[in-house]
Amino acid sequence: MFTDAPTRKAKRASFLESDRIGTLDLPQDDRLPSIAKSIESAMKGEASGDVRRLCAQFLYTASEYYRVPQCTIRVLAARPLRVRERGTFELFGDYDPETSLIRVWMRTAVRKEITSFGTFVSTLCHEFCHHLDFQKFEFPDSWHTRGFYERAAALYHHARGTPLKKLFWVPMPGGRWRIDWQRTNRPPMQVQFDPFRLRTR
Ligand SMILES: [Zn+2]
Repeated sequence: MFTDAPTRKAKRASFLESDRIGTLDLPQDDRLPSIAKSIESAMKGEASGDVRRLCAQFLYTASEYYRVPQCTIRVLAARPLRVRERGTFELFGDYDPETSLIRVWMRTAVRKEITSFGTFVSTLCHEFCHHLDFQKFEFPDSWHTRGFYERAAALYHHARGTPLKKLFWVPMPGGRWRIDWQRTNRPPMQVQFDPFRLRTR
């Protein structure tokens, strides 16, 4: 996962703000996790009508919570091999800021298998965060900044009821960043009490 390179002058302040905002308010109830669970069952049963209806319900609930205009959803069968979205290749979904339409794909491009539930929900949250960038944060554009990925991860872990992990970043050429998955997935370090060290210093 890579961030976008910083933008040129005009939008630089918004880009930096997007990069800086690494948290997202989350609902205190379990409506989103319970809808996500239903999406999982509907996907297992390959009930695409139910998946679409539940995704719409998920987005409706989230939009209400964040007090932003509603967005619409289209759940498509097999995804195209390559979807070009804002200069990056995103293979699982996209968002159109003009129409507030989110599209997600239920099946992989090549083998036409059902997308894994984790990937599917992660995509739904990712695309909804693009919606939030325009409608809640009122950014002139929605970039894949470190903050963007952190906000999307916060929503994703809330929806799945899994603990939020701190994302560790590695700088790349051109002002971009990539996630250090090894550090990110490492269990939290135990702080060890060492009496000898204390005595000698
Ligand atoms: Zn994106």
